[in-house]
Amino acid sequence: MVELSFFDEGDLVAVLTAQPLDRLLDYKAPEGGCQTGAFVEVPLGPRKVLGVVWGKGAGGFDLSKARSVIRVLDVAPMREEMRAFLARAADYTLTPMPAMLRLATRAPGLGDPPSMRKILRLGQGEPDRMTDARRRVMEVLREYGGLAFTLRELSEMAGVSSPVIKGLIKQGVVVEEDTPRDMPYPSLQPEFDGKDLNDDQAEAANQLRNAVATGHYGTTLLKGVTGSGKTEVYLEAVAECLKQGRQALVLLPEIALTAEFLARVEERFGARPAEWHSGVTMTERRRCWRMVGQGAAQLVVGARSSLYLPFRDLGLIVVDEEHDSSYKQEDGALYSARDMSVLRATCCSAQVILASATPSLESWANAETGKYQRLDLTSRFGVAEMPDMRAIDMRAETLSSNRWISGTLKKEVSARLELNEQALLFINRRGYAPTTICRACGHQIGCDQCDARMVEHRFLKRLVCHQCGETKPMPEKCPNCEAEGRLAPVGPGVERLAEETAEVFPDARIAVLSSDLFGSARALKEKIELIAEGGADIIIGTQLVAKGHNFPHLTLVGVIDADLGLQGSDLRAAERTFQLMRQVSGRAGRTEKQGVALLQTYQPEHPVICAILSGDEEGFWRAEAREREATGVPPYGRLAGIVLSSPDVQQVFDLAGEMARQDAPLRAINAQIYGPAPAPIARIRGRHRVRLLVKCEKGAPLQKALAAWVAQFKLPSAIRLSIDIDPQSF
Ligand code: ADP
Ligand code: ZN
Repeated sequence: MVELSFFDEGDLVAVLTAQPLDRLLDYKAPEGGCQTGAFVEVPLGPRKVLGVVWGKGAGGFDLSKARSVIRVLDVAPMREEMRAFLARAADYTLTPMPAMLRLATRAPGLGDPPSMRKILRLGQGEPDRMTDARRRVMEVLREYGGLAFTLRELSEMAGVSSPVIKGLIKQGVVVEEDTPRDMPYPSLQPEFDGKDLNDDQAEAANQLRNAVATGHYGTTLLKGVTGSGKTEVYLEAVAECLKQGRQALVLLPEIALTAEFLARVEERFGARPAEWHSGVTMTERRRCWRMVGQGAAQLVVGARSSLYLPFRDLGLIVVDEEHDSSYKQEDGALYSARDMSVLRATCCSAQVILASATPSLESWANAETGKYQRLDLTSRFGVAEMPDMRAIDMRAETLSSNRWISGTLKKEVSARLELNEQALLFINRRGYAPTTICRACGHQIGCDQCDARMVEHRFLKRLVCHQCGETKPMPEKCPNCEAEGRLAPVGPGVERLAEETAEVFPDARIAVLSSDLFGSARALKEKIELIAEGGADIIIGTQLVAKGHNFPHLTLVGVIDADLGLQGSDLRAAERTFQLMRQVSGRAGRTEKQGVALLQTYQPEHPVICAILSGDEEGFWRAEAREREATGVPPYGRLAGIVLSSPDVQQVFDLAGEMARQDAPLRAINAQIYGPAPAPIARIRGRHRVRLLVKCEKGAPLQKALAAWVAQFKLPSAIRLSIDIDPQSF
């Protein structure tokens, strides 16, 4: 649609800012006028803040008092579809518009002129004398002449110190050029190096290409066992999208996966895409944000927040590992990146591909009803087969105390080591031990601020609260009874399992993969590469290893505690355990060697464990669906979690009780309220948390009712309220 609303100098315009205000602010349009969607700088009290022209000003006050827009920023105006998306996302998640705008402007110095940097190229000069180091520099520049290097990049590539390069610059052998940091990204070529697809893959790729070619909205669930080539297939859809001249976005659940993925994209399309996540530098963010807006970034690979980038013409969103719970997190707004992708795509007529080996029940159900198209890849690519899955019945094993590797598992691992193959031992627990207990009085060390135990991390040499991140040194005495030397670890964490493994297999090379052990994304990447190349015999890992990595030498997966996720009252426990166990098992046997996955369990008859072992996914989903349908919870009913928090426990319970009683707006839509009850985590950072759950039927206008209901109450300033539509745990 053509944007017609243009405002002349002095016209009153309404501006949305990212400040916590509940309304738009009126300003006079600046000299030269401005259009709807323009990014502007406006005065607010003594400050200057960023805003977006949202439409015509409301007026109704003394216009001579109106202040003027200071300047229109030199960036592409926010498109109408983006404004519609932000407004609809705000309505859906009940997030105030300023918070939505903050999500959409997460790049520094948006409107400032770009900073420059020095780029090095080969000049005309000849060096006064040749050394090995100088020769290497010149060779690198000659060979990669098309690329631009900074001083640091060049010294890394050539393996020389920077004075060597500076010396060459003095002699004109190497020349420096000022280049703006906001360079367009190198262009991706859809036909650069496509793989030959097998029949299943080709069929799926065709369907996806056709969907992209329609230029309309649509969502496809691409379900394929791990290693079936989902990535290859959806890259074909990306290729089609690029051919259409539109932009594409691939969301990944974990930054640790990005490096591997970028390399794959480069292989496929001949150039690197833009990258957007918390590990990207500020200058790169600014570049990405601006280039995406100009259409000069064809493909973005990123974390969930990349959904809010200002794409000029977004034609495809891929959500890889769509079931992953990290897609739902607090970012200043509570949203599920999967659901927001669908919303965003409807606003800009794009296609969505949800890819997973173990889809969420929501997506499975949407495919059942035909709301989503579903494509299946049922076998692994090439000769690789899905691993054999078996239970190890822990009731029949004898283990000495503080030991977790059963005799059966030990034998299987030894057999793999003999064959020079890799084994993975999986435990979904960070740190050394989940609990530290005093052997004298039984006291467990907890976090002072939260309702959580402190977890011992030997590697960090601290106790860590996994809720709030608080750390403290391990005390010498029991904080309760002051007994000395009686504190002892209870239960296994990944670090403790590593210790046991080293004792049981003294000659094996052991690599531990847990997020705490890596200071940087690069260190993690190096470790992953080392493992992939066969530089380790046994891998010990937390759920970091369950996601996406390709370890070709890995043929055995041993799950230390398959029952872990089934405890607790979370209704999604079954779904999560099923997904995690299938994912982690799928790491085994990705090449011609047959893989095995062994699950240590005390309840091999448990229906979820049985479903995991048999691989009867459709059966598992149908059973889960029936249960959820019977209780009217998502995806068969709607839920919202309202969490009130305050340092004062009485105050927060009182208000929650009051809210539960004054429920007329909710009763009007036949919604039920459960609670107040302590939230799943009852205290975080010293704030007590109380939760109300609201449940209603699928078609009911839940958000409207919630808004009207919450508006009835005036919150004391000490109380915070957050609303979570479609909460993850219920
Ligand atoms: P998934 O995303 O389903 O786990 P991938 O796309 O990562 O699967 O594929 C698994 C492995 O098989 C990768 O190493 C990939 O390069 C390879 N592969 C898949 N399909 C093909 C193909 N058609 N030709 C060559 N290699 C393929
Ligand atoms: Zn804490």
